[in-house]
Amino acid sequence: DHKATVIDGKAVAHTIRSEIADEVRQLSQKYGKVPGLAVVIVGHRKDSQSYVSMKRKACAEVGIKSFDIGLPEQVSEAELISKVHELNANPDVHGILVQLPLPKHLNEEKVLGEISLEKDVDGFHPLNIGKLAMKGREPLFLPCTPKGCLELLSRSGISIKGKKAVVVGRSNIVGLPVSLLLLKEDATVTIVHSRTKEPEKIIREADIVIAAAGQANMIQGSWIKSGAAVIDVGTNAVDDRTKKSGYRLVGDVDFKEASKVAGWITPVPGGVGPMTVAMLLKNTLDGAKRVIEQ
Ligand code: NDP
Repeated sequence: DHKATVIDGKAVAHTIRSEIADEVRQLSQKYGKVPGLAVVIVGHRKDSQSYVSMKRKACAEVGIKSFDIGLPEQVSEAELISKVHELNANPDVHGILVQLPLPKHLNEEKVLGEISLEKDVDGFHPLNIGKLAMKGREPLFLPCTPKGCLELLSRSGISIKGKKAVVVGRSNIVGLPVSLLLLKEDATVTIVHSRTKEPEKIIREADIVIAAAGQANMIQGSWIKSGAAVIDVGTNAVDDRTKKSGYRLVGDVDFKEASKVAGWITPVPGGVGPMTVAMLLKNTLDGAKRVIEQ
């Protein structure tokens, strides 16, 4: 019976975090400075608060200084933007992250566009995405989840050059940038989205599948080519009465069936999720090094 190699995102992320901690220690010894990450959160969404506290904890673990800026739900756009400008000017802050989604009365695109390019550790600034799309240009930062997907492939010894890659989803934060990154790494890339006809036919051709549709168990085992590498970004809550919370998390891929066919596969949870946070720390470190080592 064939069994895919399960890519342990938690273990890979742990390795990366200890590499980052080493580098932070070296920076601190050599220059007396540590990287700083500012996280701006507006309002009281439970999910946003738990992401933010996870990021704060991850920073503390590797020696990155975190600055938490909590603003009231009713904050005006002008006030939020002036906070961003203040962080842009603060030399101890090397990365700025505005936790999304923002309340409806605030224009996300406008707010994100105010973050200094040199501190855009989420990699969501249109100029960073634009450079990612252009040949011969290098963005200052890559978006964390897409970067995490590629890091999982490379640390699992999976080459990308010349491979057929299929990305399911085309959002600004995952599907589109991960497609651009794979293209930069010389894959032949096809993007499947909600209007694609017969997605299974396209996915069956793929040596590498990146699933980011947000549809629980949408990709069946029979859609996967034998030996393919499957990276499942999807994080979907499904009802589960056996859990105290009443739900459990599943990916976009039917893990059990796909494991019988794929060469490699990431679990949900414990695959891409931990990598996203590790890449945020890495971007903050890289941003800080650019400034401090100058
Ligand atoms: P969005 O909802 O913004 O985008 C979903 C994309 O999938 C859209 O492009 C949509 O197509 C496409 N899609 C939806 N349904 C189908 C379908 N039936 N067949 C093919 N394509 C479909 O989601 P995100 O990109 O923000 O996130 C995707 C998933 O990844 C979510 O489950 C999210 O929770 C998870 N995620 C996980 C992260 C992690 O760190 N592990 C980080 C970020 C996200 P169209 O454009 O036509 O609407």
